[in-house]
Amino acid sequence: MGHFKWPEGKTAALSLTFDDARASQLDVGLPILDRHAVPATFYVSPAAVEPRLGDWREVVGKGHEIGNHTMTHPCSETFSWSRENALENYTLEGIMRDIEEASDYIRSKLGVEPVTCAYPCGQKFVGRGAERKSYMPLVSERFVAARSAFEMTANDPFGVDLADVAAVSVDSAPVEDMLRHAEKAAAEGRWLVFLCHEVGKEPGPQTLTASEFDAFCTEIRAPGSPFWIDTFEGIARHILRQRKGE
Ligand SMILES: [Zn+2]
Repeated sequence: MGHFKWPEGKTAALSLTFDDARASQLDVGLPILDRHAVPATFYVSPAAVEPRLGDWREVVGKGHEIGNHTMTHPCSETFSWSRENALENYTLEGIMRDIEEASDYIRSKLGVEPVTCAYPCGQKFVGRGAERKSYMPLVSERFVAARSAFEMTANDPFGVDLADVAAVSVDSAPVEDMLRHAEKAAAEGRWLVFLCHEVGKEPGPQTLTASEFDAFCTEIRAPGSPFWIDTFEGIARHILRQRKGE
């Protein structure tokens, strides 16, 4: 099997994704992305978008992708903070209603149709025990692609299930860690997806610091960089076209 063909003669692909519409993404992350001309994907929580609506519209205007991250962010009740809104208490209809509501919000307030989705907490099930069901098939019917579990590796473009794309969390990661992941993905010709929450001046458990992020963007935009960088949607669509032999 030969190497997968990425655009522009590149040997690997990279998507940067940001979750939950945290304010630091607008205030600290966005200027860095724009300075390096790096398109990104934002899996937004509508409740957090609302107070900064004008700023989020600007994000859309700059060509970044807005993706679906559900309306109310249900995760497993094993996370104590999600006990009141636990996936174990959802039905398939319920979770799909939550997802449709988020798409309605994004369509009406931000003027774009979300075509990719990120499962909250990377979890793809509803119900418990014998009643547990995967909602991945329903997401797969409605979206071009979906970001799933947090892993330590990049995706093989030949085999990846586009409804189950793995991401590497870079919350609080030093630039050396990010570059190590990038080098490995480049050597294997893979699609690397990074996920983070806050981009800040000060370190924190969910914070990628501005200086580390800026250093990483400089590296991946350097002449000779092996990476084709695009939104999650852009790379998923490229994989689909390659599979169809277009
Ligand atoms: Zn989230």
